[in-house]
Amino acid sequence: MPELAEVEYYRRQWDAGLRAKVLAVELHARKRIFRGSNTREIVRSLTGAQMSESIARGKQMLFRFSGGNWLGLHLGMSGTLRIEAPDVRPGKHDHLVLRQAKRALILRDPRLFGRVRFHHGKEDPPWWSGAPDISSDAFSARYVADFLKRHSRAPIKAVLLLQTGFPGIGNWMADEILWRARIAPSTRGAALAPPQCKALRRATRFVSSEAMRIIGHDYSDPPRNWLIHQRWKASGVCPRDRVPLSRATVGGRTTAWCARCQPA
Ligand SMILES: [Zn+2]
Repeated sequence: MPELAEVEYYRRQWDAGLRAKVLAVELHARKRIFRGSNTREIVRSLTGAQMSESIARGKQMLFRFSGGNWLGLHLGMSGTLRIEAPDVRPGKHDHLVLRQAKRALILRDPRLFGRVRFHHGKEDPPWWSGAPDISSDAFSARYVADFLKRHSRAPIKAVLLLQTGFPGIGNWMADEILWRARIAPSTRGAALAPPQCKALRRATRFVSSEAMRIIGHDYSDPPRNWLIHQRWKASGVCPRDRVPLSRATVGGRTTAWCARCQPA
């Protein structure tokens, strides 16, 4: 599932189309990713519009077009964005194609868990996420502490996956963050001491910014000493002390941690 850094990578693929006009829009109107959207309005409004800006916030992307037109994309489980030659013939899973003079911008989503939304107006769409960006000043120690307090009964692993508080954090990043902050995934938010809250926020910012820098740039792998390289291996060990990783389902998701570094 695309996480923060992968979303950033895909957003940048479409940036090749900035400041260029859309000459034609082709889409598969009956596909689930367009649920709730008026696909005729999308075609009519984006044809002839120029793409002027792209923004990623958490797992959502927003593309701004001239004339007060906004296209929101969520990649779901399997969505990807890419660029092709302007006369490309779309594949079966290429559900949205914006043709420009020099290229075609393509959204592909074989499993259809993604979503395409459209908004017309001068201001940002009302559905655009209100959660603060993790790299922003608004993602403060106070903000994190308040959010944890509001979800104090859930295991911390599940809380990290809430997009309303930690936009863009997905399963592997949550495990990486807890491992760095030395917090057991099943710990209740209410049980975290202030220094642990601080460590959690620091690890969240570190993992997000490093993932954006490394993966978001060219889809490279994170450094070898990250947990991500061990977490799917049957013989996976803690990169710090080589203790075999523990595994369980926490908050509905497969979770890996080091029982020595992250004692319950
Ligand atoms: Zn360890």
